[in-house]
Amino acid sequence: MATALWNPTYEGLSAANLRKLQFQRFKALITRVYQSNQYYKQRLDEAKVKPSSLKSMDDIRKIPFLTKQDLRKYYPFGLVCTPLDDIVEVHASSGTTGKPVVGPYTRADLDLWAEVMARSLYANGVRKTDVVQNAYGYGFFTGAHGFERGAEWIGAMVLTIGSGNTERQIDILQDFHSTVLACTPSYSLHIAEVAEEKGLNPASDFDLRLGAFGAESWSDNIRKNIEDHWGITACEHYGLTEIIGPGIVSECSERKLHINADYFYPEIIDPNTGETLEYGNEGELVFTTLTKEAFPAVRFRTRDLAMISEGTCSCGRTLPIMSRIKGRSDDMMKVKGVIVFPSQIEAALMVVPGVSDNYQIIKKKQGDMVSLSVEVEPSEERFKDGHLEEFEKRAEAEIYRILNLHVPVQALSPKSIPRSTGKAKRVIER
Ligand SMILES: [Zn+2]
Repeated sequence: MATALWNPTYEGLSAANLRKLQFQRFKALITRVYQSNQYYKQRLDEAKVKPSSLKSMDDIRKIPFLTKQDLRKYYPFGLVCTPLDDIVEVHASSGTTGKPVVGPYTRADLDLWAEVMARSLYANGVRKTDVVQNAYGYGFFTGAHGFERGAEWIGAMVLTIGSGNTERQIDILQDFHSTVLACTPSYSLHIAEVAEEKGLNPASDFDLRLGAFGAESWSDNIRKNIEDHWGITACEHYGLTEIIGPGIVSECSERKLHINADYFYPEIIDPNTGETLEYGNEGELVFTTLTKEAFPAVRFRTRDLAMISEGTCSCGRTLPIMSRIKGRSDDMMKVKGVIVFPSQIEAALMVVPGVSDNYQIIKKKQGDMVSLSVEVEPSEERFKDGHLEEFEKRAEAEIYRILNLHVPVQALSPKSIPRSTGKAKRVIER
């Protein structure tokens, strides 16, 4: 069933008009970065690209990629394309794997962010009448701020509680009659678990009807568990500090992830050769921010693997559709010659009867050799039933079915794996 669009003019653009708008914005962007930033000027000169010579969107292929290494090299403000005085807000990633990625915003950038987040949340079904409990971690990280901006842009009531203090989350959910929960998928499960321990039924003792979840990769099975526990519709969000934070895609009522391609131009490339692939092929996602002012990204390599398709959707949006992220190339592991993504192991585990939502993948490295094992918690009932070696064997068989690889599985007692109020740590190196 078609639902209302937040911005029908742009979310419903014809393919031809979208391409026209993208090219117009792209040419203005390249002209601007060429004139205002030394890094971009040098890279474009080296590639012999003059902004005035750009004739169509295909010319984007002549422009070199922007990588995480470039961002580190020019940390913190070397890639800014406006006077520093025009920056009014700054976010940054956690920087767990090196220098943090810095996201500076002008006033116009913040308005753009509010607009795309409003589109995303509106597509999920969030309306002015909703009460949004924002349980993402506030701080430098983009997450909480993006959801707050978008929900306020729609006119909903935002509860700026932040992550953590789970008992209080439960009180506020009840006292303020929150209808939308925004946080990481794993944290929503932890809140449900604590609510159940308090004798509450998450599906019937709360007013929640929607979840706006992101910042973590999660399988369809975990999504279903969340929906069953809470009795809600769980929606997916995707974002990157390098591009804008959350707000790159809008998940509609048909469960399609529409890319806000009038602002973020998407490409799919072969991660090994850098060659541009036609839509319909799986490869690495590359984004160009067409209108951002302070920190535009031109052909940023995300390391995320996905597929893009075009065509109409019955929701009424004409914007291109992205598949769910198959995995980050950074997360990809090679075990005895087999390519393994953590998401594949999660998908295998979740079909095992009596499994809980809590597991960890243990990665051991000896020289170039990587070996994997899995620790997983059965549910309380399954644990009490005993004969856990049967549970372990079944989990190993499911993993083998998907990966054709033997990965030992160990069942742990319930609640022995640490819970997270933010991003769950699923892969542990020992
Ligand atoms: Zn749709």
